[in-house]
Amino acid sequence: MARKTVLQLSGVQRHYGQGDTTLSILKGADFELVRGEMVALVAPSGTGKSTLLHLAGLLEHPDDGEVFIGGRPCNDLSDDERTAIRRSEIGFVYQFHHLLPEFTAIENIMMPQLIAGLSKAEAKERAAQLLDYMRIGPRAEHRPAELSGGEQQRVAIARAVANAPRVLLADEPTGNLDPKTASYVFDALEALVRQSGLAALIATHNHELAGRMDRRVTIEGGKVVEM
Ligand code: ADP
Ligand code: MG
Repeated sequence: MARKTVLQLSGVQRHYGQGDTTLSILKGADFELVRGEMVALVAPSGTGKSTLLHLAGLLEHPDDGEVFIGGRPCNDLSDDERTAIRRSEIGFVYQFHHLLPEFTAIENIMMPQLIAGLSKAEAKERAAQLLDYMRIGPRAEHRPAELSGGEQQRVAIARAVANAPRVLLADEPTGNLDPKTASYVFDALEALVRQSGLAALIATHNHELAGRMDRRVTIEGGKVVEM
């Protein structure tokens, strides 16, 4: 597989105003993620992991620098264009699943595909495949409240990749799970990334899981550095 950069942050700066002072979180951060690669983002709380992921996921704008998705600079695009890229090329998983409570597992995974314009039948077939892949096929018709924490996160991961994005961004996706469940959820996530050629940037405090990824980076002095 040819080396292909799917996500690039170049000289990214992010500052937050706090009263009279400015909090500089990212001060010229550079980062590159290539196709098929899994990278752990390991850094103490408050150092800017979520900020970095939100910038990479086009949920926020950098104060300076540029974010490239599939080689395309995204800063100056319109909100509609950014939303379109986010929907088709980026999957996001949070620490808490954010599934829609009134819909079943399979419906939650169908939703982004229906928004993308797939037919109900197509969306359902792909959702069922993903549920099987995440080894939760039998739970398809259950609502989130009827699922365990590990099952909820596997549905959230399946939903994030439903539209076959290039990049999966996960913000402490197993942070809310016990170690054994975290490991099981990570197994499913890893298998998915490996077979799809997706690239993933995963913030985690779990050093065992970080050790299983291809690379580990941290945030130091507002920059991304290899560990
Ligand atoms: P992490 O995910 O590594 O814990 P965050 O990216 O959430 O860190 O936050 C980094 C720092 O930026 C924290 O000090 C946080 O309080 C601050 N911060 C994050 N978002 C905002 C915001 N919208 N306004 C002001 N400060 C913020
Ligand atoms: Mg965070």
